Amino acid sequence: MQIQEFIFATSNPNKVKEVNQLLGSTVQVKSLKDIGFTTELPETQDTIEGNAIQKAETLFQHIGKPCFAEDTGLIVPALNGAPGVYSARYAGPQKNDQDNMNLLLQNLEQQADRRAHFKTVIALKTAEQLFTFEGIAPGQIIESPRGDHGFGYDPIFLPDGYHTTFAEMDMQAKSKISHRAKALQKLIEYLAKT
Ligand code: IMP
Repeated sequence: MQIQEFIFATSNPNKVKEVNQLLGSTVQVKSLKDIGFTTELPETQDTIEGNAIQKAETLFQHIGKPCFAEDTGLIVPALNGAPGVYSARYAGPQKNDQDNMNLLLQNLEQQADRRAHFKTVIALKTAEQLFTFEGIAPGQIIESPRGDHGFGYDPIFLPDGYHTTFAEMDMQAKSKISHRAKALQKLIEYLAKT
């Protein structure tokens, strides 16, 4: 039986563990750390898709092996899609979660339409092809933070159909409905077929 190997453009061991747990034994995913890759991958595109593709293609150019990359953003229609692709540095280059949440709450003051969704795009690059897989989590931005699990905008994001924010859910509950899990599931279904 031949084992397929993919490199995930992340240094986060938890993300790699999560993917490997969902995959069967014929597919193995390694992180940048596992392969000793330390060059920073550019994220200079103005869309979430663009950044995921840019990271996957740049990594492929360096290593010449099948690989994938992900990018995520929070999209708020009442703010013309902001923070969107700039979610990590919404309040500045310090990339601080608290500052980002405060700025978002400030920009939504007096705003009746508080709908929002997280979007993750995973780009898979092989020698032959480039594929993208998208996951969306719809919800709304509440008026003040609740909960201390998770990260980023989790304390102010109430997913549709739930009374708890992402930060009030444990990781298992969040990962059943999260944008990242949905995109990952599509990638996994694809890899299982190849
Ligand atoms: P990245 O693409 O994973 O680097 O995410 C970009 C930014 O989006 C992060 O800095 C977070 O602020 C935010 N973000 C990504 N995923 C999540 C999530 O699952 N919950 C809350 N915020 C997130």
